[in-house]
Amino acid sequence: MTTGPTAAYATLVNFDDAIDRYDPVLGLEVHVELNTRSKMFCGCSTEFGAEPNTQTCPVCLGLPGSMPVANAKAIESAIRIGLALNCEIAEWCRFARKNYFYPDMPKNYQISQYDEPIAFNGWIDVDVDGEIFRVEIERAHMEEDTGKSTHRGGVTGRIHGADYSLLDYNRCGVPLIEIVTRPIEGAGEKAPQVAKAYVGAIRDLMKALDVSDARMERGNVRCDANVSLRVSADLPFGTRTETKNVNSLRSVEGAVRHEIMRQAGVLDAGGTIVQETRHWHEDTQGTTSGRPKETAEDYRYFPEPDLVPVAPSRDWVEELRATLPEPPAERLKRLTSEWGFSEREFGDVVAADAVGLVDETVRAGCAPQAARKWWLSELARRANEAGVALAEVGVTPVQVAAVQALVDDGVVNDKLARQVFDGVLAGEGEPADVVEKRGLVVVSDDGALSAAVDAAIAANPDVAERIRGGKVQAAGALIGAVMKEMKGQADAARVRELILAKLT
Ligand code: ADP
Ligand code: MG
Ligand code: ZN
Repeated sequence: MTTGPTAAYATLVNFDDAIDRYDPVLGLEVHVELNTRSKMFCGCSTEFGAEPNTQTCPVCLGLPGSMPVANAKAIESAIRIGLALNCEIAEWCRFARKNYFYPDMPKNYQISQYDEPIAFNGWIDVDVDGEIFRVEIERAHMEEDTGKSTHRGGVTGRIHGADYSLLDYNRCGVPLIEIVTRPIEGAGEKAPQVAKAYVGAIRDLMKALDVSDARMERGNVRCDANVSLRVSADLPFGTRTETKNVNSLRSVEGAVRHEIMRQAGVLDAGGTIVQETRHWHEDTQGTTSGRPKETAEDYRYFPEPDLVPVAPSRDWVEELRATLPEPPAERLKRLTSEWGFSEREFGDVVAADAVGLVDETVRAGCAPQAARKWWLSELARRANEAGVALAEVGVTPVQVAAVQALVDDGVVNDKLARQVFDGVLAGEGEPADVVEKRGLVVVSDDGALSAAVDAAIAANPDVAERIRGGKVQAAGALIGAVMKEMKGQADAARVRELILAKLT
């Protein structure tokens, strides 16, 4: 008995064996939610986190007689994205209706673009373990997001097994750009890493362009990963599956890897791959079957009759080209050499998502190593504890530079600097205000220090004896005692000098 063409062959093939026998081909579709203040075709707010169904109007609810108007800022962002992806920009293009029913899409069609995308024929270079891999872009087109369904009463949060579903139409009509690659060939065993690096590169580019908040955990950037296998690279493509809405870099890598292992199992057993959508499961690190994939004809695309064509003038396109930021990959290369970090140190900054923060801190006058240290230790720990992104920890790059300037000037030491951060986070003002209000200034005045050193020597006669006997390293214990006595506000270097002067 078989329960369906895929269910019959559940055995996963070990990844290396799968790659030995098959050549993977990828196709990545990335949806980017733009950060425009209003929606794609109406004036409703796009603010994240509002009460359900408070950001809707007749247009985005698809009420009869309502008329859409395209958001100029969204078109501008689409063109800038196209240019940054080395695409050609259409001189004239239209929106199209993509017809299908979905409860969270009240119009019963999605306004998208079909055979006339705003941008096409581009490429982006991605860095895979130091090796550059060029990914060709087929097109980038504009469309609108759907609403959000929440399924209640089941254990999985999915519709199966739920008692009822709730619909929130706030997200309906939020502008999206869908970026579609040409089939990616030749990645071989690196296919999962290429997919991850590509999505990461797109996310970084969107951030650099400031066209999206680009927060994957909020679904601002989500990837549909198409994967197929063939026995060898000179054969036509095999049948693909499309794993939908993968929304973390790690999951993109995992989903591609898993599909390669799963499809190899099906093919090894003499089965055939069914063209279908699949779902990625974080808990089991696997994919399961979704729905059979529609073909383009099923959607009955036709040109959207309620919107005028988009015909960006060449002058405008060139104006927008001039606004493009330095490409993220080049920026990384430049910063690596400017900061003088080791590869490992730089890699840590990238992994912590702190490149922009360190860069801004350095530009505010801080030494690169100090900027790196604060963001990756002290502030990363606090962000982690608060469960927020590093950029949202509550201290700005300019403030970090100000704290380091206080350290450089000898006003505070590293230990007191931590208390300065506490104060800034507690809303006590700028770093200098916190130093003042909390009285955090380092004491380097010999009179006060000398008395504390004498007290520490008297309280620790055995340690003092060891120092007298030549064990200079033992001074650390006395410095610690003085620091404790003076609540961390002593100038440690001066304390050390005084101890040694008194005992040796
Ligand atoms: P759909 O509308 O079905 O999502 P798209 O054309 O939007 O199709 O996207 C399909 C993606 O899959 C593209 O990135 C395309 O390059 C890629 N692709 C097409 N055929 C294959 C295949 N056989 N194997 C892997 N990827 C493929
Ligand atoms: Mg698609
Ligand atoms: Zn609206």
